[in-house]
Amino acid sequence: MLFRGRLAGCGIAVCVALLVGGAGCAMGEAAPVGDPLHAWSGGTDPAQLESWVKLRLAASKQDIDKLVAVADARTVENTVRPYDDALNELAIAGNNAYFMFAVGNTAPLRDKGQAMLGVISSAATDLSLNQKVYRALSAVPLPAGDPATTHYVQRALLEYKLAGVDRDDATRAKIRQLQDRVTALSLVFGRNVADGMLKVTATKAELEGLPADYVERHKPAADGTYTLTTDEPDADPVFNFVKSPELRLKMYLAYNRRAYPKNVDVLMDLLKTRYELANTLGFSTYADLATADQMMGSSNNLRTFLKEVDDASRDVGKREYGQLLTFAKEQQPGLTNISAADATYWSEQYRRAKYDFDQQSVRPYFPYDQVQAGILKTAARLFHVEFKPVVGAKTWDPSVATFDVYDAGGMGSGKLLGRIYLDMHPREGKDKWFSSAPLVPGVRGRQLPEGALICNFSGGVAGDPGLMLYSEVVTFFHEFGHLMHHILGSQGQWSAAGGFNVEGDFVEAPSQMLEEMFRDRTIISSFAKHYQTGETIPADLFEKMNAAGAYGRGSWVQRQLMYSTFSLQVYDRAPEKVDLDALWKENMTRFTPFTLVEGNRFFTSFTHLTGYASNYYTYVLDKVIAVDFFAQFDRKDLLDGPTAMRYRRSVLEPGASKPATALVKDFLGREQNLDALKVWMGEEFQTPAGAAKAGK
Ligand SMILES: [Zn+2]
Repeated sequence: MLFRGRLAGCGIAVCVALLVGGAGCAMGEAAPVGDPLHAWSGGTDPAQLESWVKLRLAASKQDIDKLVAVADARTVENTVRPYDDALNELAIAGNNAYFMFAVGNTAPLRDKGQAMLGVISSAATDLSLNQKVYRALSAVPLPAGDPATTHYVQRALLEYKLAGVDRDDATRAKIRQLQDRVTALSLVFGRNVADGMLKVTATKAELEGLPADYVERHKPAADGTYTLTTDEPDADPVFNFVKSPELRLKMYLAYNRRAYPKNVDVLMDLLKTRYELANTLGFSTYADLATADQMMGSSNNLRTFLKEVDDASRDVGKREYGQLLTFAKEQQPGLTNISAADATYWSEQYRRAKYDFDQQSVRPYFPYDQVQAGILKTAARLFHVEFKPVVGAKTWDPSVATFDVYDAGGMGSGKLLGRIYLDMHPREGKDKWFSSAPLVPGVRGRQLPEGALICNFSGGVAGDPGLMLYSEVVTFFHEFGHLMHHILGSQGQWSAAGGFNVEGDFVEAPSQMLEEMFRDRTIISSFAKHYQTGETIPADLFEKMNAAGAYGRGSWVQRQLMYSTFSLQVYDRAPEKVDLDALWKENMTRFTPFTLVEGNRFFTSFTHLTGYASNYYTYVLDKVIAVDFFAQFDRKDLLDGPTAMRYRRSVLEPGASKPATALVKDFLGREQNLDALKVWMGEEFQTPAGAAKAGK
């Protein structure tokens, strides 16, 4: 993968987006201080950051000039090496600029980080359209005994072709214009959603069911009514807890009509532009272009995959709905079906009644420091590594914890593999999301990979134990899966073939695999101890937590299919054949059992239509792969059995040195299939006793 920005929904950092403009590499400014890998080492002066970034860009340009100037026969050493060096400099610059934008400690530094990201993106776009570099790479004889390099070059050439580099000048100018338009329209779409907050008015009586602190936060107007917004902190509790069906419906319609009708035209324009871009590049639809460099390969394969997952999950979803409806009828006699506006409310009521589980009840067993230590310990055993705290490491903030990662398995034991930074608690001005981000790519024998978690978990303040929610601990496992993929997968000879460089539709598999470890009682018991008494999480509470966590998986898969199918259908045909309303209704009806509410226009605020475009299926594909991977482990001995090392060697360590389909085959001995997903969806129907046994 060349310069494609990361688009993962979990929040993997977008480092280099496809923006266009002239790269500025002006020299002769204040010499930057600090080391060449870490922008923050030179201090927090924005001007220093700019000089530091420009030095990286200049180095990258030098590598390209060197490559282009070669007069002899093309070789891996005189062409692929400087090409990868140029990408390495761009990645270091982009990653660091992103970090200063996301976690920098002053507003001017964050602003400068953002500005630098634009400059670096331009340089990356220039390289992705550089015909001389493309021709040079094409002329390199592929080394017979080096499949990793062969794959690396072939993939680079494919990306160049998909960017249109081999077209004539007029066509390339058109492509660039269309790409600019895609970027601009995507920004407008996102901004309309961000600015598209709507308001709902409620009477005091309609607030019944909401938590006391929620009501407290909202002050009534002179006429006694309350104003609620469609922002998540306001909307989510309404969907979950409000007893009034009228208020739930009002909020449902407001939430699902954000940026409507404004974004209808923006979206149609985006579909048209991408369709034209695909045609110009020789593809019949945008969905085919977007899947061409992915595991999925084509929109036809995608349709087949979605159909197979539908066949596997449809009955499970129906069974869950049957149970939910029976429950709702008991509570509200006379009810014949559940409206889409009431789906979340009834699911929450059912979950509470059936599993007797409240997220709050496990928080005392998950104080932040214990969870961090527990996850490091789990990962160390599973991946055969050792984490050693780095005392006195200079980072961007004193609260960041730094660890060196050492190999602790078999040959090469004790070798330093890389460094991780954990920036885990909120700070003024810091990015609000949870993400895993590469910082430094790895190059064997020359440069060790570094990566970080940027999270906003509670804790980190003296006197606050940072009691975590169940869902937060799962997120920690997930993001740590990405981080280990980066460190272990970035030990090869090419900087741009590390763990994060695998096909975009495989990126979420290792992270989702690690999430599954959270279902194991032995692992969780090793660190889930009451923050005051030290008591281990009681067995029955653990079982309830697990059972509640497994509830609704069939419906979840069906919902993912709804989003995936809609995303595919708007991009797999000519835009004049796209009727957004009709397609949305058709998929809502097909994939959810709830009664359709007229007026739902969710697609105008579905921002993944700009980023993922037709590739929203990534979530469900990677869930299939992740649970298939997990099913290979011995449930009685998850951490210490031989499978863990085999997983590290065949899935994580190769990084992007081979196609992701090969990584899957190497580990499973076959392609992924849906058997494990079926078992995973069926777990909720097992008795708690049976589930507990399996988890031992
Ligand atoms: Zn993720």
